Amino acid sequence: MKISIEAIPATGLKGGVVPGQTFDFGKAFTDRMLTMNYSPEKGWHDACIKKFGNFSLSPATMCLHYGQLIFEGLKAYRRQDGRIGLFRARDNLQRMNASAERICMPTIDIEETCDAMVQLIALEKNWVPHDEGASLYLRPTMIAMDPLIRLKASATYLFYIICSPVGHYYANGMKPTSIIVEERYVRAVRGGVGFAKTAANYAASLLPGKLAEAAGYDQVLWLDGVNLEYVEEVGSMNIFFKYKDRLVTSQLNGSILPGITRDSVITIARSWGLQVDEEKISIHQLCADIEAGKVEEIFGSGTAAVIASVGTLRYKNRDYIVGGSEPGAFSLKMYDELTGIQYGRIDDPFGWTSIVA
Ligand SMILES: *Cc1c(COP(=O)(O)O)cnc(C)c1O
Repeated sequence: MKISIEAIPATGLKGGVVPGQTFDFGKAFTDRMLTMNYSPEKGWHDACIKKFGNFSLSPATMCLHYGQLIFEGLKAYRRQDGRIGLFRARDNLQRMNASAERICMPTIDIEETCDAMVQLIALEKNWVPHDEGASLYLRPTMIAMDPLIRLKASATYLFYIICSPVGHYYANGMKPTSIIVEERYVRAVRGGVGFAKTAANYAASLLPGKLAEAAGYDQVLWLDGVNLEYVEEVGSMNIFFKYKDRLVTSQLNGSILPGITRDSVITIARSWGLQVDEEKISIHQLCADIEAGKVEEIFGSGTAAVIASVGTLRYKNRDYIVGGSEPGAFSLKMYDELTGIQYGRIDDPFGWTSIVA
């Protein structure tokens, strides 16, 4: 795949970030973006790195009507030695292809797209924040482009990657969050699109999220859509429960997003000799275990926060408290290990990191 790189006059560039700069998550974007088009005749073509800017779309463009829209979220990190690294980027593109297949969209070539992403990051390396905890968030996105308001799969698509410098997720320290178990609404159902990173999943989560916030909780914990009994995941994170001798997380069942951080946590915990069980977790059993003092720590995992400690779980009008006002030792150790690998502070025995610039 040939990537054309549009020349941008220096006067049209904002340039980058400076050490110590703070960022409002997802609000600022870098100078450039990558775009490529798909048609049945040409496949993916016209890959181009160009100036970040608006698209011009027909109001009938299919992605605006029927939800054929998928995305990914990953980060580029400025490592201790100044080089720029990526973390498990191919796994994100692989997951994007799994999402694409479910939503009837074309898949991308992992290696070629990864190369294109690396070229984009290399051009935007001055935008990768300097402070540990901060990073350049990458948002690969694919949208249906046919200007047609008939319900069917589009023939043409646009793939693009935009980049946003983001700050440390825990600007005020890693304070445990409170989550409310959602007893009325569900995020995803068996046979649905829960495992795909597709727009509709997030639209469906907004109302319950808003209600949770109004009730004084940070996020929602989803139960399964069939029985409203088995723990699935949090807003944009997978969830873990640390017992004395084992770590437990929900088993992937098609309605849970298979997080790359989730997989990394499982792999690291097992490498430490800890037993990790992916299983069906009944909310009743879980609450009984918390009450009996068996659950030492609860934490969420995801690219944005890495590890988010959970201190309160509300279910059936009761607050179940786990740990104190600080994250538990295991959560902190996992956070340090993961960020250590991502920022090149410690060795990466798993081959997850790649240097891009
Ligand atoms: C993205 C996402 C996650 C976390 O996935 P990571 O690959 O770890 O970032 C978990 N749940 C949902 C619903 C998500 O969208």
